[in-house]
Amino acid sequence: MERRELFSFLSSSIKNKKDDVEQELIIRPPYYNDIDAFGRECQNCDGLCATSCQEQIIIITEDKTPILDLSKSGCTYCDDCANVCESGVLSKENKKLIDAEVFIDQTSCMSWDGVMCFSCKDPCLEDAIEFKAMFMPTIDQERCTSCGFCISRCPSFAIKLKDKNV
Ligand code: SF4
Ligand code: SF4
Ligand code: SF4
Repeated sequence: MERRELFSFLSSSIKNKKDDVEQELIIRPPYYNDIDAFGRECQNCDGLCATSCQEQIIIITEDKTPILDLSKSGCTYCDDCANVCESGVLSKENKKLIDAEVFIDQTSCMSWDGVMCFSCKDPCLEDAIEFKAMFMPTIDQERCTSCGFCISRCPSFAIKLKDKNV
């Protein structure tokens, strides 16, 4: 898939609703503390963070800033992207969780429809996905690190991302 097509796909598949207006949910890599620094500094960089990411979840968009694509893998919080960022946009001193909430869409989840499925449970190292009597999974937001590793494991695409502040 071409980069332009991929960004278009991400933009359309990861959206949130706020005030009845659909807005793109742009998820930045962890380790930043100034959101405006991406627009200021990344223009002068060859996307070092993206090339350093072994999980290949960082994509450099057309405006030359990095976003996360959690549709195929997740973030190990390995620090590599922060270590290579020469301009300090990403820095280990700013270490924090990915700024998005991961949740299970009950209308899409097979388990909420009475089908036994634990596909999302195994990849979660934080044991943040809780089942009630083997069904009806929900994500414990106190434990979830928003790493995203559960997202691609769901056969019904029921694990989604939303803005933490909505
Ligand atoms: S390494 Fe730093 S400056 Fe370069 S694209 Fe990534 S965040 Fe921007
Ligand atoms: S912390 Fe590691 S896995 Fe996560 S985005 Fe940065 S380089 Fe990729
Ligand atoms: S995003 Fe949250 S629930 Fe999913 S694997 Fe990571 S910690 Fe677990």
